[in-house]
Amino acid sequence: MDNIKYELTESDIPHTWYNPAYDVGGIAPILDAATREPVSREALARSMPPALVEQELSQEPEFEIPEPVRQLYAQWRSTPLFRARRLEKALDTPARIYYKFEGVAPTGSFKPNTALAQAYYNKLAGKTGLVGETGAGQWGSAVALAGALFDMKTKVFMVRVSFEQKPYRRTLMETYGSVCTASPSTETESGLAVLAERPDHPGSLGVAKSEALQFAFANPEYGYTRGSGLNHVCAHQSVIGQEAVKQFELADDYPDIVVGAAGGGSNLAGLAFPFLRKKLAGGRDVRLIAVEPAACPTLTRGRIAYDHADSAGLTPLFRMHTLGHKFIPPAVHAGGLRAHNIAQVVSRAVEDGLMEAVAVRQNDCFEAGVLFARAEGIVPAPESTHAIRGAVNEALRCREEGVGKTILLGLSGHGDFDLVAYQKYLAGTLSDDALSDEALQDGLDSIPSPVLV
Ligand SMILES: *Cc1c(COP(=O)(O)O)cnc(C)c1O
Repeated sequence: MDNIKYELTESDIPHTWYNPAYDVGGIAPILDAATREPVSREALARSMPPALVEQELSQEPEFEIPEPVRQLYAQWRSTPLFRARRLEKALDTPARIYYKFEGVAPTGSFKPNTALAQAYYNKLAGKTGLVGETGAGQWGSAVALAGALFDMKTKVFMVRVSFEQKPYRRTLMETYGSVCTASPSTETESGLAVLAERPDHPGSLGVAKSEALQFAFANPEYGYTRGSGLNHVCAHQSVIGQEAVKQFELADDYPDIVVGAAGGGSNLAGLAFPFLRKKLAGGRDVRLIAVEPAACPTLTRGRIAYDHADSAGLTPLFRMHTLGHKFIPPAVHAGGLRAHNIAQVVSRAVEDGLMEAVAVRQNDCFEAGVLFARAEGIVPAPESTHAIRGAVNEALRCREEGVGKTILLGLSGHGDFDLVAYQKYLAGTLSDDALSDEALQDGLDSIPSPVLV
């Protein structure tokens, strides 16, 4: 038996974004780091266009998608939902496994869903450029694409370890017309400060974020963009889950389990929250599972506290799971999952027991990724192999227990630019980068004190 592909028509592309803050009953206020009072709209507006400030603070259930953005979505959306019968067979499981494939976007992952929205609102607010930070290069590519499509210049600070491991991502950004700089760089104060302390610093998302923010403050024609974490970003990703809900109607099935890779939390939120919304409205029960790297275990070993989203402490304080803003994760290949913190909405869902979290090791993820590639023909992004590992573990449990559950996994992107990582895995030289208790403690000690929960 072969796979089945469930496709929607253009008119099925959502007309609204779901607000995930509505689903978790609101999120804790964002606090000014100095006064520890809720930040004002004006303060947020210093690095965010007004429409996004409204979305960030809104309790409304949904926001309308501007027509120019929706038209650009139609270039590759809706994305396909597959029933992975060949993977089921390879696992000899009674489970029904589905995957929602976001790798059909021009840059190979889900990130343009929000990059286009942010470009649109920044341009509307008079910005002529966009700046952002990138880990594996996926966010930078999405910003570069959005800049090209909205005729804006773009600047991307790329975490140095990925800059070196993934040279083709940089070329992709440059092809779209972007200027890509390895971080830590000598172009910003925070980059210089980090290099003075440690000249061979591998970089981290937190450091790159500080650099991009400082660049935006120094060059006000550039709008600062966010690849993950914030509420409005998670909202934009809800097109993934909304489409999946409709596709399950076509399949005449419904997931018992929804699994996603968790870095900053946005693709997981976008996939899972529309199902959570249905459940909370009296629909069918569904287990939501966040899968994170054991090397950067924000949800499973971090603590819930107010912390910055960047390493230099330039952002306000967010209440969320955090490993501490100075935490430097080992250099695993899933660069997009190397964040010390997670979206407030995902954090809240885990805290309230609406979502589970598990941590998995790099080699186990690549094992699942290779199994997936051989069964399904798609080489998954290293980040996406986390969702696959989580789904495979659930499918194997179904086999043990002899129950046929329906599992939906978020295939957040393809891994065509990540073949160096696969090469290492296949050669048996991929490390498991176990996280030392000392590095973990150092990170946790950087949560601003007095610690506010
Ligand atoms: C960025 C990225 C992720 C992780 O980001 P989230 O905000 O946690 O969704 C996962 N998969 C891919 C392919 C990515 O590019």
